Amino acid sequence: MSNLDRQAALSVCGGRGFVAAEPVRELLSPRRVKLGESTEVRRLLPNLGRRMVGAWAFVDHYGPDDIADEPGMQVPPHPHMGLQTVSWLHEGEVLHRDSLGSLATVRPRELGLMTSGRAISHSEESPAPHARLLHGAQLWVALPDAHRDVEPHFQHHANLPTVIAPGLTATVILGELDGAVSPGTTYSPLVGADLALTGGTETALPLDPDFEYAVLAMSGEASVDGVPVEPGSMLYLGCGRTELPLRAVSDTGLMLLGGEPFEEEIVMWWNFVARTQDDIAQAREDWMHGDRFGTVRGYDGAPIPAPTLPPVPLKPRGRVR
Ligand code: MN
Repeated sequence: MSNLDRQAALSVCGGRGFVAAEPVRELLSPRRVKLGESTEVRRLLPNLGRRMVGAWAFVDHYGPDDIADEPGMQVPPHPHMGLQTVSWLHEGEVLHRDSLGSLATVRPRELGLMTSGRAISHSEESPAPHARLLHGAQLWVALPDAHRDVEPHFQHHANLPTVIAPGLTATVILGELDGAVSPGTTYSPLVGADLALTGGTETALPLDPDFEYAVLAMSGEASVDGVPVEPGSMLYLGCGRTELPLRAVSDTGLMLLGGEPFEEEIVMWWNFVARTQDDIAQAREDWMHGDRFGTVRGYDGAPIPAPTLPPVPLKPRGRVR
């Protein structure tokens, strides 16, 4: 999906300064953002005071929305650089097209992983016909400097490894959880996992104390390390944990996101992750007037124009120690 915000702000993210070295329980509220005419999403990252969790730099939760009599998701062609996009669904389906010629229908608990590298463009839409309900999350992973210019590629994995415990099915989206490893390509140590808990379950997940973590609540009624989490909220957990206690009151859907704290400072604007404002300005120019981001074929609609860059130059911020 795209950041369709017409007043896109430049933001500096990353660095150790924001990372909680010890376990914390910081409940993040979503910001409601309109995507197009009909879709509203809940943005959890970047959030006030919390910009990243490991390399995870962007998290939108949407639905469940009844789109039986509506077009559903309609995100026209737009560019990305310096990041990977992760499409994750609990209900419905998303048709992905990109400038490499990829055409894929991503369904619930399948991984749609697009690595933009230096440049890619894509569109995402609810196919016609489509399921009544649409419910999912759109996430971005920042690429480390050594890999941010990698060749763009798209991966679709319909059969992901799972970790099963009584009352819990964990699907490993990216990285590794309890010995199960996702086939999705990663460029920094991180994990993303879908946690489906049946009502009444009390369990604990093994964690890596060197990672920082957060849990996104998608459905149901549950508590994470004793904190009740409502669907559409995210609990930041910090580092230094070897396990995570979970309790589900009703059938519950959660996402676990984690990774090694992202040491590099990045600059995020619109759909781009870069290191300098000049990189951003160049990418904007190349999207509007060049061929760097290629062409998405088959989408019924015009590409999204880039918003105007804010006039105030971004001051790079020194790393907070
Ligand atoms: Mn996108």
